[in-house]
Amino acid sequence: MAHDNIDLSTLTKNELLVFEALKESEGPMKAYDVLDVLKSHGVRAPMTVYRALEGLEEKGIVHKLDALNAFVLCSHDHPHQVQSFLVCSECGMVQEISPELREAPQVEDKILGVVRATGFQMREARLEMKGICQNCTSKQGAHSTAAE
Ligand SMILES: [Zn+2]
Ligand SMILES: [Zn+2]
Repeated sequence: MAHDNIDLSTLTKNELLVFEALKESEGPMKAYDVLDVLKSHGVRAPMTVYRALEGLEEKGIVHKLDALNAFVLCSHDHPHQVQSFLVCSECGMVQEISPELREAPQVEDKILGVVRATGFQMREARLEMKGICQNCTSKQGAHSTAAE
């Protein structure tokens, strides 16, 4: 996983705690979920968590999902401007479209190209694509195709 390439020495103590919490988590976490985990490390103030999340976001290690108001670890090796996520409305699964997908770099290039042509200075873009994940689709399939 890309997380292994992160230089942890650049993180503050609290950022490291938040990073570990997100790494352990199966899916996206809200700031208050993170705070719950960090309570065992003596962190009590929500502000501490927000600041650490902000720091991690600036470093390109964490992405904020606006629609869910939650945070996930980035699955890329390097910070990138265009972030695209698949969000399942059934089970809440969030998957960042990773560079391993052949199509992913082209999506990013196309968006950057279009924006550049307008002269707009884009800082970042976040695409949250909502729908039903493969898992949930196959579960629904299993229901409808009775015995097999
Ligand atoms: Zn990312
Ligand atoms: Zn799902």
